[in-house]
Amino acid sequence: MTPQLIHTALESLTRGFPTIKGVRWFNLAVLTITPAIAIYGLLYVPPRRETIIFAVAYYLFTMLGECHALIPFPEKVPSFADNIFSLSPLRGGLVDAVFFLVPILLAWLGITAGTFQLLVTQSPAVWLDHRKTNFPISVRTGYHRLWSHRSYTASFPLQLFLLLGGTSAVQGSCYWWARAHRSHHRHTDTNLDPYDSNRGILWTHIGWMIFKSDLKAGTADISDLRTNPLIQWQHRYYFHLQPIFGYLIPTIIPGLLWNDWLGGLCFSASLRLTTAHHGTFCINSIAHWLGSAPYDDRLSPRDHLLSAVLTMGEGYHNFHHQFPMDYRNAFLWYQYDPTKWFIALCGKLGLASNLRVFPSNEVHKGALSMQLKRLHKLQGSLEWPDPVDRLPIVTWETFQEESKTRTLILISGFIHDVSNFVDQHPGGPGHLLNNSGKDMTASFFGGIYAHSNAAHNLLSMMRVGILEGGVETIKSSESVPPSQRLYIAQRTQNS
Ligand SMILES: [Zn+2]
Ligand SMILES: [Zn+2]
Repeated sequence: MTPQLIHTALESLTRGFPTIKGVRWFNLAVLTITPAIAIYGLLYVPPRRETIIFAVAYYLFTMLGECHALIPFPEKVPSFADNIFSLSPLRGGLVDAVFFLVPILLAWLGITAGTFQLLVTQSPAVWLDHRKTNFPISVRTGYHRLWSHRSYTASFPLQLFLLLGGTSAVQGSCYWWARAHRSHHRHTDTNLDPYDSNRGILWTHIGWMIFKSDLKAGTADISDLRTNPLIQWQHRYYFHLQPIFGYLIPTIIPGLLWNDWLGGLCFSASLRLTTAHHGTFCINSIAHWLGSAPYDDRLSPRDHLLSAVLTMGEGYHNFHHQFPMDYRNAFLWYQYDPTKWFIALCGKLGLASNLRVFPSNEVHKGALSMQLKRLHKLQGSLEWPDPVDRLPIVTWETFQEESKTRTLILISGFIHDVSNFVDQHPGGPGHLLNNSGKDMTASFFGGIYAHSNAAHNLLSMMRVGILEGGVETIKSSESVPPSQRLYIAQRTQNS
């Protein structure tokens, strides 16, 4: 790859960026130093089984609590490191891209190497055991589905558990997080959307958190969160709680209990955070870019299994944007949504109540609309018989006269020119040639042979006129070709 090609590729990734006004150094530090420690650990620190199990369990705790945005909302974050350095407007260039790529590469190296490391150092039995013990039923249960969308009611112990889990994600206070997220739902794909998908996948994944710009997020109603004492408590003490739950506790526990301080810092704290961060970022980037739109395709949210796996269940984003109050992200029972299962389990245990679901009838209606839309597009790409009102009315005498020079047969009141089809007629050319100028309705519909739907459809393409005063000698429904009996008509404003 030549430098020019690399430059072109990077430029295409940053094309939608707004004018960059500076760097959020605090966010950049979190997003680079954390994965750097994780990589150091993967390269030089032997993983201990207890630490890895604890790291995965703590990861679940984190993901249960948090949601899909990141560090506090840009223009509202009281980042002490803001304004230390202001970058002159750089746009779409190599320098910008390097700034984004460094943390992304570090993070993904950390995740990939971590997975690899675990695979090669743990026996399959241990892995199976990990998966059984720590099956990721978590994700965004608290910040997202509880506080951003009020999709269920949680008991106080569950709220506290989720809030502290969300704090350990180092992705901002719930109050900030939910405000950004509600703004995202309300202003999806516009300049007021904090992670506007029109600005490209690099911007929605990480750019919006690292760079300052003139963009302002749209307003959203957060009055309920303003009066929630638990949310306000976490918001007030967030910058004290964040290092405690994000870094200290996951380091101290392995350190005190089995004397693995470095493993705690590298794996339970840093590798867990790196994975949680990028899993979350994927909801803003990949879930608005990759997949299908089974409920509405006017906006960018998409459904995809890969996104669901990467984000631990938040990948059915098309459904989520259509029905955000629903506690489920995946509507169909077989779709991967551990958060839904966790909330349902909490409901069974009495820890959660009022689990909201959108009426299935309306969900199916949305899905049907999209299916009809796709079918309508396919329908529009096919050729259909001339509309009846455009066919000429032909007298019996003219029909007889014309049928001497070409093969015309009358079926269901329509005159068909079958001259070009005579040689291809499966029943032989004789039937057609000998009956030119005659009414073959009864023969076509079973008098001689009950023709197939395909034959009926093909016949309708040969219509050239309507016999004046002609009467249909069969049921009217059979005069409509089978392919047109469920023809999709678009309703316009005037009809
Ligand atoms: Zn979204
Ligand atoms: Zn949401």
